[in-house]
Amino acid sequence: MSPFAIISAVIERLKVASDAAEQLKDITGEVNGALRKLGASGGICQVFVPHTTAGLVVNENADPDVCIDMLTWLEEVVPQSHPFRHAEGNSPAHIKATLVGQSATLPLDGGRLALGTWQGIFLAEFDGPRQRTVIVNVVGA
Ligand code: ZN
Repeated sequence: MSPFAIISAVIERLKVASDAAEQLKDITGEVNGALRKLGASGGICQVFVPHTTAGLVVNENADPDVCIDMLTWLEEVVPQSHPFRHAEGNSPAHIKATLVGQSATLPLDGGRLALGTWQGIFLAEFDGPRQRTVIVNVVGA
């Protein structure tokens, strides 16, 4: 018997509309909603953003200035004024998405994400506003 037979994997695709050219949009509630829909109780949840100009961030969702500071700092690190080659003109968005990454792997506890008190999951939009997909993949019970 394959050892993989003792676990199950389920997947849910969320549609998330970003509201600005650049934004850290809190999607913690949407991800927990997907977990309820999937009936997940325990195991590991991977959240993945299948885009090249958006990413995923786990960070503070209490003070909105933290998100503003992150976006401001990324703008200083990857300025639009740099002579990029990519003809589409959105190289900063590609680079920022690469810097923050596209996924997070989180433990589940009682069907919910085992986040810290001040943590939330954010869709990191760098080339919006537009409709984005967020994949919630659960492996476990
Ligand atoms: Zn591009």
